[in-house]
Amino acid sequence: MPAPLVPDAQLRVVGLTPTAQRRAVLALLTGRSRPLTAQQVHAELTSTVGHIGLTTVYRALHSLADAGLLHTFDLDGQRAYRHCGTARHQHLICTRCEAVIECPPEVVMSWLTELHRHTGFTPHPDRLDVRGICATCAST
Ligand SMILES: [Zn+2]
Ligand SMILES: [Zn+2]
Repeated sequence: MPAPLVPDAQLRVVGLTPTAQRRAVLALLTGRSRPLTAQQVHAELTSTVGHIGLTTVYRALHSLADAGLLHTFDLDGQRAYRHCGTARHQHLICTRCEAVIECPPEVVMSWLTELHRHTGFTPHPDRLDVRGICATCAST
């Protein structure tokens, strides 16, 4: 597995100018398994980096999500953002700790093939979020 690119390189790869705001938002979300809402990102940046407008945070999150660097999730009716890997994946979402685990698409492909065989339904497997309990939560 290649080492993850530094924020600036990640931004350039997807054609985004590495502004201070995008850099800060991306750095904050890197390495987190749980998605964060715009308000949570804003609160954390304000306490670590210093003052940043909420609108600025929203704008940075939108551009990063549009570019595919962040994936969006529904967290109690609020949109939440997570920095995901570039390899294709499905999401396993823990309903207890809100962690998102990236799952290789081949793992769910056989299940989707079975599903089609039984129901005739053809799923679009590009984005499939499976909710449940993660291994860590299940063992505690
Ligand atoms: Zn993802
Ligand atoms: Zn969990």
